[in-house]
Amino acid sequence: MTGRLTIAGLGPGGEGLVTPEVTAALADATDVVGYIPYVSRVADRVGLTKHASDNRVEIDRSNHALTLTAEGRRVVVVSSGDPGVFAMASAVFEALEDGPETWRDLEINVLPGVSAMFAAAARAGAPLGHDFCAINLSDNLKPWTLIEKRLRLAVEADFACAFYNPRSKARPEGFLRVLEVLAQSCEPERLITFARAVSTSEEVLTTVPLIEAKPEMADMRTLVILGSSRTRLIERAGQQPIVYTPRSVPE
Ligand code: SAH
Repeated sequence: MTGRLTIAGLGPGGEGLVTPEVTAALADATDVVGYIPYVSRVADRVGLTKHASDNRVEIDRSNHALTLTAEGRRVVVVSSGDPGVFAMASAVFEALEDGPETWRDLEINVLPGVSAMFAAAARAGAPLGHDFCAINLSDNLKPWTLIEKRLRLAVEADFACAFYNPRSKARPEGFLRVLEVLAQSCEPERLITFARAVSTSEEVLTTVPLIEAKPEMADMRTLVILGSSRTRLIERAGQQPIVYTPRSVPE
């Protein structure tokens, strides 16, 4: 049997946001590898072995997936959202680069998924409709000083920003510091959207002016979108407001 490695994004949680090609790859797999909550989203079936591992072991998990593939298995490594956005695709390629030369002959495909920023932006309206950037606020893999520098420069360049991993139990003070940095650089009425558990039954969306933002509005299931200076809100009676960024900036 010829092995094949597929690195797939499961989307933000809702069944309807899993792409048909990811569904097909999972149906054809012999092994699914990933972080425990993501592997549990894949239905059990005869002939499918699930390998669920804890957080922060991405390289071990990648080596395991590549080893299984080299043995001839059809392996799917799963991430939430898109596998190339703060997720497993880069981890697998780090392991591939450092691994045995023979791994480079393996067939490897990356299948995109709906990233949390796109699911959240769609629910809010179109806050990422003009130029934007995505920043991972976790300081697991980079120093806090770099996060702070990028926050300041992104705001200075007037990008809308999608923030991943805003707040963990391990470092709840991190997001307070983020809000402090933003408050120094943005006007108080700048719009900020907290999109929690988008596309699941626990979804909650809240948009407030920056001055009303509190650290506890975010947790690790929240995607935060900071508007640019041009992002605006359309009120609608009895309905959620629409948050959007116009396409143009005048000369
Ligand atoms: N690869 C994923 C991101 C993984 S990092 C993607 O493309 O979406 C994990 C972070 O993604 C979480 O801390 C949260 O900020 C965000 N996230 C993932 N699923 C989400 C959802 N359903 N709703 C809101 N944010 C989500």
